[in-house]
Amino acid sequence: MTSQTSKIHVRLTEGRFQNLRRLISWPLLLAFFGLVWVQVDGQPWLLFDFTQRRIVVFGSYFSWQDLHIMTGMMIAGAALLFTLAMAWGRVWCGFACPQSIWTWLFLRIEHWVEGRAGVRARSDHLPLKGQRLLRRIIKHGLWLLLALVTGLTFTGYFVPIREMVMQLVTMEASLPLLTWLLCMTLLTYLNAGLVREQICLHACPYSRFQGVMMDDATRKVSYDRLRGEPRRSSENPNPAAAACIDCTLCVQVCPTGIDIRDGMQAACIDCGACIDACDQVMNKTAQPTGLIRFASEKALRGEASRLWRSKLVGYLLITLVALFATGYGFVSKKELTAEIRRERGELFRWLSDGQLCNFYHIKVEGFDPTLTQVQVTLLNQPELQLYGPEYLPLDNRGDWVAYRICTASPQVSTLPLLVQFTANKTVLVKKSSFITRTISG
Ligand code: SF4
Ligand code: SF4
Repeated sequence: MTSQTSKIHVRLTEGRFQNLRRLISWPLLLAFFGLVWVQVDGQPWLLFDFTQRRIVVFGSYFSWQDLHIMTGMMIAGAALLFTLAMAWGRVWCGFACPQSIWTWLFLRIEHWVEGRAGVRARSDHLPLKGQRLLRRIIKHGLWLLLALVTGLTFTGYFVPIREMVMQLVTMEASLPLLTWLLCMTLLTYLNAGLVREQICLHACPYSRFQGVMMDDATRKVSYDRLRGEPRRSSENPNPAAAACIDCTLCVQVCPTGIDIRDGMQAACIDCGACIDACDQVMNKTAQPTGLIRFASEKALRGEASRLWRSKLVGYLLITLVALFATGYGFVSKKELTAEIRRERGELFRWLSDGQLCNFYHIKVEGFDPTLTQVQVTLLNQPELQLYGPEYLPLDNRGDWVAYRICTASPQVSTLPLLVQFTANKTVLVKKSSFITRTISG
């Protein structure tokens, strides 16, 4: 093992928190690698194609006018992170952060190919040749392969993945796309394979400000000093002494290479690996488990410690409100907008064919690429005639198009108008008016 400056050989362990991590990370991995391929009616289900102004979230199309929904999602996500941090410290980092999940995947590969942490640490001093060299090459090859699949999948959320794979297979991929894929692959390889915990320790912005959210009632992974110290050792061999037998397993399994017995540290990502390792030791030495456990500073001091503090309830309420607002924005999202504007400065005009006409400008915008055109019809006032294109293309440019509505037998009144816009199953009705009032004079 392990100091923060030397290479960390993380020992893999088993236990309830490792199972919990699998329970969380496998569905997330399946979602990440699977959702990018899902299509509904031939259209991607999730896509952030900014160059084509095509953003699809769970089959719904987003545009500039849905920015508030995206903002709501971000606020909900941030508030959820605040809530989690205040309740249970860095559990997001330990259990669900992509950096951690990919690091554990890379660690698994390292474990399969090069053996257990102890074997790897010992072989560090041996010359790199023969079997050892072969294993090293296989490990890095597998890491690069996983990094490539990750980079390809990640890019597939921004460029339609089927088209991208076809371009790669037929060697028609553009240089920018290939460069981007190479960058994503190398970033994954570096992050999860080589740099690992250094990202959590030095580069992650979340780790910087989450300390502000925690207080002495936050349940963090903690070592129970009252039970554990003075730990058993050659200098203190009394079998009746405190629970810690100084086996250092908790340190060997730590992905950030810290010793939780030194007290709470910013580098701890609350992954629970040390809890699992120590619980195994406690079981083997016939002692109660929980020498290391999720506990607040107050609880460790023997004081009452409430999980639901007013600040935590506040964060949770913000999360729920943001989620509700986002959900509402999602279901009330518009796929089509239409505007109708009367010609300024001219109420009506008599044409040479004897008809009285009002002049309008109409603008339609579609935010779903499956809607290609919109039909414009006059819903009421059968004595009036609408002149102008019956169908307008929904190319999302939102140009104003000139229309006129005329009648050969004008009445002495202002007539309310209902103009209907129909695009597939989407129907919008807009109000306007037809003015004939002044002919009475
Ligand atoms: S695993 Fe438990 S018993 Fe072993 S050193 Fe860590 S705290 Fe002590
Ligand atoms: S101290 Fe324990 S919980 Fe914290 S990062 Fe290390 S193993 Fe994970």
